[in-house]
Amino acid sequence: LLFTHIGELTTNDGEPISDAAMLVVDGSVAWVGRADDAPAADRATDLGGAAVIPGFVDSHAHLMFAGDRAAEFAARMAGEPYSAGGIATTVAATRQASDPELEANLARLTSELHSNGVTTFETKSGYGLTTHDEERSLRIAAAHTPHTTFLGAHVVPKEYVDRPDAYVQLVIDEMIPACAPHAWGVDVFCDRGAFDGDQARAILEAGKAAGLLPRIHANQLQAGPGIRVAAEVGALSADHCTHLTDDDIELLAEHEIVATLLPGAEFSTRSPYPDARRLLDAGVTVALATDCNPGSSYTTSMPLMISLAVREMRMTVPEAIRAATLGGAKALGRTDIGFLGEGARADFAVIDAPSATHLAYRPGVNLIRSTWINGRAVA
Ligand SMILES: [Zn+2]
Repeated sequence: LLFTHIGELTTNDGEPISDAAMLVVDGSVAWVGRADDAPAADRATDLGGAAVIPGFVDSHAHLMFAGDRAAEFAARMAGEPYSAGGIATTVAATRQASDPELEANLARLTSELHSNGVTTFETKSGYGLTTHDEERSLRIAAAHTPHTTFLGAHVVPKEYVDRPDAYVQLVIDEMIPACAPHAWGVDVFCDRGAFDGDQARAILEAGKAAGLLPRIHANQLQAGPGIRVAAEVGALSADHCTHLTDDDIELLAEHEIVATLLPGAEFSTRSPYPDARRLLDAGVTVALATDCNPGSSYTTSMPLMISLAVREMRMTVPEAIRAATLGGAKALGRTDIGFLGEGARADFAVIDAPSATHLAYRPGVNLIRSTWINGRAVA
């Protein structure tokens, strides 16, 4: 199938191509270039001058939950501070939800992601916080994405509030063995009010020993040991990175750890944004993701993340689009997605605009006309 009359094709492999075409064969990209040079194809689709980009890769989301926290959001906007403790509200609702209810919520959010141009997403557990609830969260999620991440160490549940080390031991001894068959990654919320560096390291090492890929929530609320732990365990990605020291940035660059920035969290908690410019200038690979979760970033809009990155974090438009596509792919360790060149999986979004710049230039407007995975339209 030949897609012709593409106004601007972002490939993430050299400069964007104007007046472009793309040939898709058996779900993969077989050729990209100027429309005038396009090879013959069985079928052709005229995109009428629309821009095409690689599908967004949302490498950080929390989609296994029930209920919402609209009242907490409203209270926070009225002046109450954000802390990690509000997670307990979602934990209670998630434990009460049936498997079909959890799956229906995931399916609804997956459909939103597709409508927003997302072709690959990660989701974490972390709202069960019992072996049973973490295991079923990941089992349900595994039917919808290959990137399921065990986040039993999201926060210490209220039953363990006086003995956090006993909870860490439960995570290591019982939860990881039960969850590993359904999980791809392991994550820890290493921050004020959550887990410290030693606890995070022990959990990530145990996850690695069970075959899971480590990643970490680090330095969202304050500078801390998270980036050092990420380097020690060989994490693919350190996520949030809002409060970084010079040493942290050096570690990220040296160990080639992707810095996954989640501006939806800063937006929804009215907090200062991470300094993306400082990371990019130091040679760190940056990814943008939604952090979709009911407490601190209840959005599935990658275009909103691009708008925030450009307007509030001093990223250029091409840098932001690259971070939301190729950056996310790198944060997930994927080499077959995040770009549109020969051999790439045909995962892409068609934008109702002549250039991808419109994604940032027209904030709050959903310009995604269609979303394609493996060469097939999903939205
Ligand atoms: Zn998160």
